[in-house]
Amino acid sequence: MSDPRRRLPSVDNCLRSPLIAPLLAEHPRHLVVAAVREVLSAARHAGAADLIDLPVMVAAQIARREAPSQQPVLNATGVVLHTNLGRAPIAARAVEAMMRAASGYTTLEYHLADGERGSRLDHCRGLLSELTGADDGMVVVNGAGALVLALNAHAAGREVILSRGEMIEIGGSFRIPEIMAKAGVVVREVGTTNRTHLDDYERAITPATAAILTVHRSNFTQTGFTATPDSEALAALARRARVPYLVDVGSGLLHDLSPWGLSGEPGVQAMVRSGAAVVIFSGDKLLGGPQAGCLVGERAAMAACRANPFARAMRCDKVTLAGLEATLALHRDFATAQREIPVLAMLTASSQALAARAEQLARLLRTADVRCQLQEGNSVVGGGAFPDATMPTTLVALDPAPHTADALARRLRLGNPAVVARVEADRVLLDPRTLRDDQLVGVRDAVRAASA
Ligand SMILES: *Cc1c(COP(=O)(O)O)cnc(C)c1O
Repeated sequence: MSDPRRRLPSVDNCLRSPLIAPLLAEHPRHLVVAAVREVLSAARHAGAADLIDLPVMVAAQIARREAPSQQPVLNATGVVLHTNLGRAPIAARAVEAMMRAASGYTTLEYHLADGERGSRLDHCRGLLSELTGADDGMVVVNGAGALVLALNAHAAGREVILSRGEMIEIGGSFRIPEIMAKAGVVVREVGTTNRTHLDDYERAITPATAAILTVHRSNFTQTGFTATPDSEALAALARRARVPYLVDVGSGLLHDLSPWGLSGEPGVQAMVRSGAAVVIFSGDKLLGGPQAGCLVGERAAMAACRANPFARAMRCDKVTLAGLEATLALHRDFATAQREIPVLAMLTASSQALAARAEQLARLLRTADVRCQLQEGNSVVGGGAFPDATMPTTLVALDPAPHTADALARRLRLGNPAVVARVEADRVLLDPRTLRDDQLVGVRDAVRAASA
């Protein structure tokens, strides 16, 4: 009996066939060739000679290769700052500013009045000072970079005092002691995992000391028998020792969110007022802007950061600076920020608004013959902010039959649009907190297709 795989056409024959040739008119030849190779090779491995679907399979393979690797996703997890899904969705006004900057030339480093060269580090500078109360501010590519820059600018080759309770891992490959070593500073550990006192810091100060660093425990909390000196006391100690007090607050909280049950996160302004020389925070966590790392602080301490070569190595592009500036401008007024910055709008959404959105989604799903119920639940802030906070929400629970819950969740992820949901107790849960009203119809369509 002859092997059916022998009957597979050659790549050249496929490319000449009238079924495949039209694809060559629409797509680059190397893409079509690669797609044909891939489909034939898969058919060979599967031992299949039935190539009736060959043109469809090749077209699908080309489409996969041409699709952008980053796809839009509907986030139905209720995790507001979902790092894997791109953290903060950006405010419409910031998006407009980013598009304007992206599509043309700008005054990124240029003074129109005299035609002279300017500095990109001047963008956002005034706004950062205005909003945080600091003398000065600057922006680099992300929070981790901002920390490396501040450490290197103030303490390269010398000692930085750090509590053992803050030798933490922020996520992925970002561990504070390792980052400090890479920034070229010597870590001088003090205290214990749960308790570090002011005199632990005091006793560690020697002529080799270059800075005191505190890092916010962003993604976990410590309770029980714990102690940490307050930031005013550490700032005063640093001043007496004539070294800068550097603080990495992580999330960039500019407004009091305790009326929404969100407390425990250090506010940037309070940290500036406490006397820190440099305060570091991300642009795309609670600030709700594009990915960036902000540094604000005392004039001389910021001048040292500005002059450090890492400021150049970690500089932002014009698009980020435009988006961050527009986001910061929205923060001038809390009501405006709450309305227009998606992260703040989602974090402060009322239970009634969430229940109404859940009901609307459930109605849409039922008219599409999808079985679902509403149930009470909680959303999560995510992104290393307010790790213990649970925000009450109303969830839409999908009955996964005939699929399992995991299978339905997978079908939702692979659908178009892709929907990322939570699975709990054999139910697929959709949290309306991280969905916009104008995305609900898309969710319905995706669920209908995935449930079939
Ligand atoms: C998130 C975080 C960082 C890193 O910020 P990126 O902008 O993600 O680089 C650094 N320090 C703390 C305390 C954080 O929470």
